[in-house]
Amino acid sequence: MDQDSESIFLKALEGIAQQGLKKEESIITSPQDAQIKVFGQSMLNLCSNNYLGLANHPKIIEAAASGLNARGYGMASVRFICGTQDLHQALEARISQFLKCDDTILYSSCFDANTGLFETLINEEDAILSDTLNHASIIDGIRLCKAKRFRYRHLDMSDLECLLKEAVKYRLRMVATDGVFSMDGEIAPLAKICDLAEKYKAIVMVDDSHATGIMGEGGRGSIEHCGVLGRVDLVTSTLGKAMGGASGGFTSGRKPMIDLLRQGSRPYLFSNTIPPMIAAAATKAFELVAEGDDLRARLWENTAFFRKGLEELGFIIKHGIHPIIPILIGDPDLANKMSRALFEAGLYAVAFSFPVVPEGQDRIRVQMSAAHAKADLTEALEKFEAIGKSLQIIE
Ligand SMILES: *Cc1c(COP(=O)(O)O)cnc(C)c1O
Repeated sequence: MDQDSESIFLKALEGIAQQGLKKEESIITSPQDAQIKVFGQSMLNLCSNNYLGLANHPKIIEAAASGLNARGYGMASVRFICGTQDLHQALEARISQFLKCDDTILYSSCFDANTGLFETLINEEDAILSDTLNHASIIDGIRLCKAKRFRYRHLDMSDLECLLKEAVKYRLRMVATDGVFSMDGEIAPLAKICDLAEKYKAIVMVDDSHATGIMGEGGRGSIEHCGVLGRVDLVTSTLGKAMGGASGGFTSGRKPMIDLLRQGSRPYLFSNTIPPMIAAAATKAFELVAEGDDLRARLWENTAFFRKGLEELGFIIKHGIHPIIPILIGDPDLANKMSRALFEAGLYAVAFSFPVVPEGQDRIRVQMSAAHAKADLTEALEKFEAIGKSLQIIE
């Protein structure tokens, strides 16, 4: 690389650092769990998506090991050449049964599921209506497709209805939304979205990455929580959060659309799928979630306990029910200071500032897990109190 080229990249990096946006990675030297070792120091982990504690669960590890032993390490092929094992089909069937959908297609991530969805199913004759705060992978997926784009204001159903009216002239309309929005833990008004979709004949697509396995009576996600199982046409989700936390994603839904994705979705056709051990372990994860609600019960108990505790201490948290708990600080330096003080006290929770969240909404985002012990959370609240007082965030 010549010096002029190099200086362009170095300048871009400098710009990121100057704006205070440089992301640093903390090195973990333990399995992902409630207690982790960060830079050698033992910490209570308050910021993973390990909602059910399956990332280091003995039954999941056992299932992964047996998948590894029975079907080897990798596929060395995409699905349609020689990359489909019985384990992949079993997982797809398991997910379809769980979500009460016709069929399911696996991807190596939910990011891939989303980027491979829109351009395969809709084109320039169609319209896509998307919540402004949808996940980056939905935004990128929509960028790749030629449909006319409409962005409705975050969670704003009257805006969505206006745009649906405008979009009646297109062949198809598709509404795309996150089931749960990750920065605030807000749940999309899916019943209302389905009502509007029926009124204006639109297809509904929900990305349930932060809800699959945890929300709803049976853990089927925000689609179950909102009572719209069977009314939502397409669900995408990840295996990288509650469902074991390794990697992988999927799209479930109506048969013709899943069939079409299998024929034409580029991340599916041109990229390997998940390895056998993950297929085996994820199948086990869906089994555990379907059979028992004890992990889910513990997660929701921990969530209610921690939300109530923080509020009683005087912290301003975004209201809601989800295990994502945003603690609003309102100033980027103060949020960083708080995150550092928490770290020194053995609590791992990351600060988020603009542009990840709107200006003035700087925050510490904590996430609950079924793996957290009540005693650890009680101790954590005591530390939050001491640190909040010393930084004058609470009185
Ligand atoms: C985490 C997340 C993804 C990405 O999932 P991966 O499987 O890690 O690619 C996609 N959409 C939403 C809403 C997410 O929260």
